Amino acid sequence: MPPQRSGECRAGWAFTGPRPRPGGNWQKVWAAVRDELLAWVFPWPPYCLGCGADLPHWPPADPAICPRCQARLGHEPGSRCLWCDRPAWLAHPDEPCSQCRTLGPPWVAVRAVGTYRGLLRRLILRMKYEDEPYLAELLGRAMAARTGGWPAAALVVPVPMHPDRLRQRGFNQAILLARAVARTGGWQLAENLLVRRQAGAGQATLGAAGRRLNVAGVFAPSPRARRLAGRPVLLVDDVLTTGRTLAAACEALQALGAGAVYGLVAAATPLQPARYTAPERSGEMMPL
Ligand SMILES: [Zn+2]
Ligand SMILES: [Zn+2]
Repeated sequence: MPPQRSGECRAGWAFTGPRPRPGGNWQKVWAAVRDELLAWVFPWPPYCLGCGADLPHWPPADPAICPRCQARLGHEPGSRCLWCDRPAWLAHPDEPCSQCRTLGPPWVAVRAVGTYRGLLRRLILRMKYEDEPYLAELLGRAMAARTGGWPAAALVVPVPMHPDRLRQRGFNQAILLARAVARTGGWQLAENLLVRRQAGAGQATLGAAGRRLNVAGVFAPSPRARRLAGRPVLLVDDVLTTGRTLAAACEALQALGAGAVYGLVAAATPLQPARYTAPERSGEMMPL
């Protein structure tokens, strides 16, 4: 019988879902003590990360969510742009969305687990900002499931983070996602192929023109990187917003001799033409 849970745990994971607990203070204290002990045993919560429900196989060997929450992560039915995987009304299925027409993406295609909202958005934010990097395993496995038909010889490359940002956060979520993707799909991983030369600070407050300037030349091949000689690349990031970051990284890979570049992200923001030209609001969702 899996235990009830509540509150936060020192070891890193926290349950903020449903299941208010009846009972007095001694029950709350006992639940807190038990969660502390569980957190020492399990590197991730031993229940559904989406709704808190018990999982059929407890404890799970990997971070897991129940089938109902799994279904909430993915795309809803409807047409999507082939280049950015955003839901878009398209007169013809092989035409780009308005955002991709403007951007002219240098990649072959982008695929996302789903749209950046709801449960998927919450999991990404928890991974990045609430010190729960184990969520990258869950998200990375879901991302790998979206790569059907892509070349098996592809090299998995994460979008790099500037060293200053890395020191602040302690980890690059794109690297964690890329590791999970490569492990799940059996691809070769190249974590340090690219370097980031600028931190990109303030990107979230820039408009489209400012963003273009801000990411120009921001990525470069690592000094020790070998030429890719036409090898396809699977470029991994957490969230696709305007696409400028992914495009800049893609161009740096092409300068290294990469063949076809495919973008793989945990989520893509909804298509919002109006915000594409307007100054961005402050930006939790901005990957830069
Ligand atoms: Zn669930
Ligand atoms: Zn598009």
